[in-house]
Amino acid sequence: MAYDNGNIFAKILSGEIPCDIVAENEHALAFRDINPQAPVHVLVIPKGKYESATDFGAEATETEQAALCRLISHVAEVTDIHKDGYRLIANTNRNGHQEVPHYHVHILGGGDLGRILP
Ligand code: 5GP
Repeated sequence: MAYDNGNIFAKILSGEIPCDIVAENEHALAFRDINPQAPVHVLVIPKGKYESATDFGAEATETEQAALCRLISHVAEVTDIHKDGYRLIANTNRNGHQEVPHYHVHILGGGDLGRILP
């Protein structure tokens, strides 16, 4: 399926829609979720046009993949959730309830998150 250039995260990347940036590097951006589900809820997205975890894993360069991983670690440290722990979620496609068709990793922390699924 073709990447939707009008999706909300594409608009955040282009500066069309504002966001609360936590950190960024050359290939990835981290910003706070508009509807936080935990005391710390940050989204990390590649700057490249990848629709899902599947696309990112298959098509992104190793440099882009490394940059996203590095940014996740950096965000965990600067938000001070790295020691007590946190959760990464990448909702994917229909069954995963992915709402925004630009690959993103949720970083959730700042308190006990319970078990992985309700
Ligand atoms: P998904 O269900 O696709 O994994 O999660 C999409 C996430 O994007 C949701 O947690 C939602 O709150 C967040 N979101 C949707 N629109 C915006 C927006 O305009 N700004 C920010 N910062 N987050 C958004």
